[in-house]
Amino acid sequence: MMSSAKAGKENFQEPSFLSAPQAGERTPHQRCAMKYIQKKNWTEYRSLPLCVEVDFHRSEPGPRETPFDEAMQEVWDDAFEAIQKAYRIGLRWILFTPGCSTSRPGATTARSQVRKLVRDKSATPYILRAKCEYGRSFYVVAIRENPGGALPVVRCPICGCKSYKKKSQAGHFECTDWQHEFNWLELT
Ligand SMILES: [Zn+2]
Repeated sequence: MMSSAKAGKENFQEPSFLSAPQAGERTPHQRCAMKYIQKKNWTEYRSLPLCVEVDFHRSEPGPRETPFDEAMQEVWDDAFEAIQKAYRIGLRWILFTPGCSTSRPGATTARSQVRKLVRDKSATPYILRAKCEYGRSFYVVAIRENPGGALPVVRCPICGCKSYKKKSQAGHFECTDWQHEFNWLELT
């Protein structure tokens, strides 16, 4: 079991695969500092320290309750909220994922919405644009270091129990009593 105090002291080291030039993997992207990564298995980013994974769940194809524009606005709002909260509590990465191993068209559209947000000046106070990376269906946002950021105590927001195990998704937990699932961004 990981205590939040221990997590806060985690050394901030970037894994070697991040931003390391690898033959055939990189396409130079001139319009902005973000890096487009080809052929990378996005699950590798789960090993980033102080990372939380956010699923592009709102953009799933299929019967749609809300109009497309509204759904895309929700992706923008949710992503911006996640970035602000991650900064506030001292996380360093957000991994936006397609939610399953096969990338769906909706997830790719949602990814482009996150890409727009990362380019937008409203995100500048919270992110390190040059360290952001993205592929066809994922987006990794580097969060600025927040000296005042303090990770919340990991406690199930549904039943309140403090006993939990880590899930395979970065920054996701499951309480041992009721198997409630939650993540860093849902803690206060
Ligand atoms: Zn619980």
